Parts: sequence; structure tokens; C-alpha cells
Amino acid sequence: MQRRTKIVATLGPASDDKQTLCKMINAGLDVARLNFSHGGEADHRRRAETLRLAADECERDVGLMGDLQGPKIRIKRFEQGSVHLDEGASFFLDSSLGLSAGSQDGVGVALESLHEDVSEGDILLLNDGMITLAVERVDGTRIHTTVVNGGILSDHKGINLKGGGLSAPALTDIDRANIKLAAELGMDFLAVSFVRSGEDVDEARSLFHEAGGKGLIVAKIERAEAVENIESIIEAADVVMVARGDLGVEMGYAELTGIQKELIQMTRSRYKVVITATQMMESMIENPIPTRAEVSDVANAVIDGTDAVMLSGETAVGAHPVEAIKAMSSVCVGAEKFPHQAGRMGQRSDDKFALVDEAIAMAVMYTANHMDVKAIIALTESGATTRWMSRVRSDIPIFAMTPYASTSRRVALYRGVYPIHFEILDTDRDHLYAAIFETMLSKQLVEVGDLVIFTKGDLKGVSGSTNAMKILSVTA
Ligand code: PGA
Ligand code: MN
Repeated sequence: MQRRTKIVATLGPASDDKQTLCKMINAGLDVARLNFSHGGEADHRRRAETLRLAADECERDVGLMGDLQGPKIRIKRFEQGSVHLDEGASFFLDSSLGLSAGSQDGVGVALESLHEDVSEGDILLLNDGMITLAVERVDGTRIHTTVVNGGILSDHKGINLKGGGLSAPALTDIDRANIKLAAELGMDFLAVSFVRSGEDVDEARSLFHEAGGKGLIVAKIERAEAVENIESIIEAADVVMVARGDLGVEMGYAELTGIQKELIQMTRSRYKVVITATQMMESMIENPIPTRAEVSDVANAVIDGTDAVMLSGETAVGAHPVEAIKAMSSVCVGAEKFPHQAGRMGQRSDDKFALVDEAIAMAVMYTANHMDVKAIIALTESGATTRWMSRVRSDIPIFAMTPYASTSRRVALYRGVYPIHFEILDTDRDHLYAAIFETMLSKQLVEVGDLVIFTKGDLKGVSGSTNAMKILSVTA
């Protein structure tokens, strides 16, 4: 049984050499994420290039995702690099304070308007929620707080406001530069951090396109406003990421699991793609095996219908990047054996189909799920048809046959969709079927006599390519 759920893994110092990347690819890496929050331009260029080389060497279509850092609000620096904050102590945040002037009493913040966005009683969360500060009063640019949860606070740590509402624009100057870099490096996915609305997603998409970028846009749901505006964000994006790190800090972790389930369901039912991210195998940064709680977390995301699960620190800085992918892969396969827990997934059987693509895709899936069919084969240019199909729960593999490597690398993220390189040399119908069967047989994906469903999907180059569904028996 092939794994249907896809694996996104973040690149970093732990996965910098080509051999390690090859092992990760062979262990099941589908999409590699470059995190623009860490490292400089030279690192991103080198990592992108090494990943492409490794994928070529392993003869696999591995997608590349650039993840913008976004307007993450951070404190400035301390004179000594860090301080220890005690519970009950007073501590201030002040945007006017010098870059490295932080002390036991307070520290600078990189957002000039922070004092306008907070008021007495607000809770500020620092260092991914490890440190909690309660706002006492705001005096000019200075925010006076009391430490609720203390600990070590070091340079540049992030700040979140509980409940959201910090008015930072979605794209910073650094993001704009990184969008250009992502376009230049031919990234297959551009992930946009801290989006507030569909307009933020649209803006990132236009900048990416202006810079010549062709990849899909991933909207990271990681602030309270994004949850409020989720409909417009899903509409504007190609892919949604449940970014549980920052989202859990802003919304509070107690409701995170319910929000995750809703986001997966909503995204799929709107025919978009969804990634579940952050701390999925966190303990594997140090340990060679996951905890049972982590196993359960990954399995639940799979059972809920996520397209992909993501690794962050586990593969970027962890001690066991290859084992983390192996563990995640085996948990996905294990969870996929129990496909009926979540019932229907994706279909909108109560609605009318708006597009021919949609109608064909749903007819294909309905047929596949009610017939002894071995494979769904879609000849596709953009991969769109296979995305529609993969919104419906099924055990039948969907093969996206395409001449375009860029399409192969996109569909690598879609649940249950497998890219196959296929050049259409002869558009005569019988010759085309023969060539397709030959490719499928040579890869041992079907056997002679198997029933397959064939669709020409969104392919424009072939004569008479109206969207059509055919049920064929494989011949040699
Ligand atoms: P990050 O985003 O890893 O870029 O912070 C994911 C998250 O916040 O969960
Ligand atoms: Mn984040």
C-alpha cells in the first residue's frame, strides 16, 4: 500500500548535505520547506540547489516551498544577550529603546506601533508562549507589564498578543525581497506567514507573479484574525497551512485541536489543499523515536483528512532528520488503514457542481469507489483535475501524468496523487492509450487486465480533449 498523506520537511543545518537529503527523499520526503526566518540569502540559494540536485539523483519529483518570515513581532536585544524574568517582577517593552539596550527592567521592540495596539489587562506572550506578561499600563511608547510566567528571555524572541490584534502589515520589506528570491529560484510553493485576510494572500500572489514566480500560494493560518477571515483566505489561497505554533500561542492551545479539525474540513470541502504543521514529532529533535502522543497527533491529522503533515525543527536542526521522516511515513500508512473514521471528506453532495472539471472529478471518484478499479490516470497540464479528485476520500491511487516537471512537483503535495512524467508523442487515441499502459506497466503500477479510469483532465494539447472519463482494461 502506498502512503497517500504527503510529508513536508523543513531544511536546515541538520539536512544540508546531499547524502542526507537523498536519504530523506528515499524515506518519503515530498515537499522541502525553506524557512526564510532562519539563515541568509546564500543559505537559501545553496539549500534550494542541493535539494534539486538530490531530487534529480533520486529521480523523484520533490516540491520546494519558500516560507516567508512575515511580520513576526520581535523584541530587540539585551546588553547581556538574555535575562531571567521572575514571576511577579515588573518588566517593560518600549519601541523607543535602543537596539541592544535591554536589561532586567525592560527591552526594545521592533514594532513602533506596539503601544497603540495594547491596553491594560492584555496578555503578551513571548518566546512561543513560554513567557507571559500582563499589561499594567501604557505610558507613551512604554508598555509596563508584570511577569505572569517567568523564565529566560533572550535576544530577538517573538511576541504574540493573546487573542490577536497586533496591526502589523502582512508583508515586510524582507518578505518582498524573499518573494523575488523565491521566484528566481523557481519555488513550487510560496508560504505567506501571518496573513489576516484574503487580500493579504492576493497581494503576495501578485508580487510573486510580478517577479516571475509560478508556484502555488500557501496561506499560513497563525493569527486570530486569520481564523475570523478563514473563508476569504481559503478562497484566495491554493493551499492552507494549519500553523499550530503561532496559532496555538494566539488562540490558546486548548482550542487548537478543534480549530485544526475545522480548518482541515473547511479547506477540503472548498477543494483546496491543507498542511498540518508544527511540533508533530518535536521530541525527535533529540530522540530517535516519537512519543505515543506525537504518533497519535500525526495519525489524527491523517484520519481527519489532511493532505500533508509537516516537520520543522525535527529535520532542520534535529539529530535524526531521516528517522523523523521514516517515523512520520509509517504512522501515516498505519493511520490510512482506518479511513472511515471521519466519514465523507471533501464532497459537497448537497451543492450543484459549478465546473465541468468538478463534475468529471466527482464522477470519477464515485465510480472508482464503487468499482474494482486499480488506478485513476489523469493526463493533466496543471494538475487541477487531480486536485479536485483528491478532495474525495478513496483508497485508489490517482496518477497525474504530465509532461511538466513543475506540475509533478505541485501534485506531490496532494493526498493520494502521484506524479508520473509522460510526454505525449502521439495523440492518436489508441496509440495514446498504448503509451500510457506501457508507462504504467513498466513502473509496475498496474497489471494487464486491471481496470483503470482514465481522464484527459485539463490537458489542452490533445485533440478532442473535452473533459471525459473512460473505463479501460489495461492491455499489453
Ligand atoms: P513557523 O510557522 O514555523 O514559520 O513559525 C509555523 C507555525 O507557526 O506553526
Ligand atoms: Mn509561525
